[in-house]
Amino acid sequence: MNDTPTYGFDTLQIHAGARPDPATGARQVPIYQTTAYVFRDAEHAAALFNLQEVGYIYSRLTNPTVAALQERLATLEGGVGAVCCSSGHAAQIMALFPLMGPGTNVVASTRLYGGSITQLSQTIKRFGWSAKFVDFDDPAAVEAAIDDDTRAIFCETIANPGGVITDLDAIAAVANKAGLPLIVDNTTATPYLCRPIEHGATLVVHSMTKYLTGNGTVTGGVVIDSGNFDWSASGKFPSLSEPEPAYHGLKFHETFGPLAFTFHGIAIGLRDLGMTLNPQAAHYTLMGVETLSLRMQRHVENANSVAKWLEGHPHVAGVTYAGLEGSPYKEIESRICPKGAGALFTVQLKGGYDACVKFVDSLQIFSHVANLGDTRSLVIHSASTTHRQLTTEQQEAAGANPDVVRISIGIEDPDDLIRDLDQALNTAHG
Ligand SMILES: *Cc1c(COP(=O)(O)O)cnc(C)c1O
Repeated sequence: MNDTPTYGFDTLQIHAGARPDPATGARQVPIYQTTAYVFRDAEHAAALFNLQEVGYIYSRLTNPTVAALQERLATLEGGVGAVCCSSGHAAQIMALFPLMGPGTNVVASTRLYGGSITQLSQTIKRFGWSAKFVDFDDPAAVEAAIDDDTRAIFCETIANPGGVITDLDAIAAVANKAGLPLIVDNTTATPYLCRPIEHGATLVVHSMTKYLTGNGTVTGGVVIDSGNFDWSASGKFPSLSEPEPAYHGLKFHETFGPLAFTFHGIAIGLRDLGMTLNPQAAHYTLMGVETLSLRMQRHVENANSVAKWLEGHPHVAGVTYAGLEGSPYKEIESRICPKGAGALFTVQLKGGYDACVKFVDSLQIFSHVANLGDTRSLVIHSASTTHRQLTTEQQEAAGANPDVVRISIGIEDPDDLIRDLDQALNTAHG
């Protein structure tokens, strides 16, 4: 099937990137569990290594099962290409890698996933990169943080875990004015709820570990390229615009045009950093993506019912779900995520830290895990777990105060979820 954009999302999530296997006719994408691929002859091998012909060399770089997933996700996000990698965090490094060099910085939101804050505030310093964190509710603050060494702007669509929706249109306008690429982590929205490229994003990253795979079985990540950014305009991205010494002087932008970033990601990023997705994991994610829209509809429906119910509970001090009528993000939601605000939010309990710990321990259907975006409902007390390494100020900025619990609503029967939450709230306050 040709992946023409005239097909709807529900059709593309099943068919994009998948063709009957040319060798066997197998209808489902086979798991190509192979490390290497036989060259037709020496000339074919040379053409592949020169990137003059697209094909398979070695599975650290490319693999047919992974390629099917890359094409499917690029199609669903409205991009021109995608590079899958071994985790969401790998995808973040792979997104920044072609853009950054020693002494450069990324302007990032204070409300990122806890692990992303640690990665950007600490670990990337070892590469000579740095991050400046600002409040992305204030586009003027983002603009003010940009300097001559800034190479990218980084935020999440629905910020995890505080129920915050980023005004991607406003942030893209700032990025555009500064001539910088906007990288959006779309993990918690998925392309079903939001397509950041339509709001001006240059690159979209995902932890496929979450909703894309959907069953809590895989760690994986992906970077999707819009193909819209002019890497040669400013001279700030020499790895893409100038002769690249790591690939015998190839000029990626001149050679591959809108696919420059994708080719760079595979030919240099995966080749030298090696954060490759394995074909088995790609298979599980392909299976998950086939039902993405159905699951996301149910996730959102359940999250709306549960958040509304929780808001009225006597032991609850507050619920930060952007889908609630009183949310300050309601207007942004209608523009950025009109199909719903996702299924992740925090609940503030009147009993503080102790009530939160008791509440989490008393839940029966909800699993206490460091994960989100599963078919199962999940819960975590961020301040004592995922956000533990952060300072109190960073915890507060991320919406992970000690008296809040993060909830990831699954696709179970909503009445069962509400009953479970009710008994745990009453036990926590007993
Ligand atoms: C989980 C997550 C990540 C990290 O992804 P991994 O697959 O765990 O490496 C990044 N961003 C967001 C929003 C996440 O939820």
